Amino acid sequence: MQDLADSAAPTTVLADAVDLARAAAVEAADGETAQVGEHLEVVREDDTAATHYFAADKPGYRGWTWAVTVMGADEVTLGEVALLPGADAVVAPEWVPWTERVRAEDLAPGDLLPVDEDDERLVPAHAALDDDEPGAEEIRAVADELGFGRPRVMSPEGRFDAAERWTSGDFGPGAEMARAASAHCGTCGFYLSLGGSLRGAFGVCGNGNVPADGHVVHAEYGCGGHSELQVDTGSVVMVAELVYDDGVEMDPVPATD
Ligand code: SF4
Repeated sequence: MQDLADSAAPTTVLADAVDLARAAAVEAADGETAQVGEHLEVVREDDTAATHYFAADKPGYRGWTWAVTVMGADEVTLGEVALLPGADAVVAPEWVPWTERVRAEDLAPGDLLPVDEDDERLVPAHAALDDDEPGAEEIRAVADELGFGRPRVMSPEGRFDAAERWTSGDFGPGAEMARAASAHCGTCGFYLSLGGSLRGAFGVCGNGNVPADGHVVHAEYGCGGHSELQVDTGSVVMVAELVYDDGVEMDPVPATD
């Protein structure tokens, strides 16, 4: 709210129009006089307009104020009436488009989550080939392998986003499990490399005995299920050399010629 000290004072006639402004606020409050509280201040808008502020004692509007703009030089008339949030007002959070609000875990079976035509994570790809085109079948086979058989494929931005998300996620190099591991996925026999441009850094864990099974893991992630870990299975107790003692003294056998 503008501080009176920061602006020139409104004309006397506008500043004195408190009753007119209050009446307008009460009318806007459906005649509930009690909902228009104390007069807080009057702020100059320009040479012929000023706004009177009243505390709003309206249920559910803590910290809000009635703002009533009056105008005129000699004769004062009513401008507009509004209920405005103050610094302490409880207001709704800034609106965020649903496409940015929705989280992966919000999607339930049967729900649809359409992708925008201009979603930057996707780019148009090779969609179809004319069957009469010479070599169409071979080209299609190669195109399918490269991912061009689909209308759209992931853009470099989309791949980069995914890579960042996976790297900083539960199966990235910074995860607690990875930091405690003595060997990484990149050298593990259970690591199934991804195809395409993400191949160098990501794969899927195929070890059904570990939490990462079926998840995309970073090559520098790791866990105790690494295929090449050697665990010493020997006894942890020192074992003395075996001695057989039946208590019978044995005489040496005399040597024969
Ligand atoms: S078993 Fe562990 S080290 Fe091996 S790929 Fe899976 S998560 Fe990585």
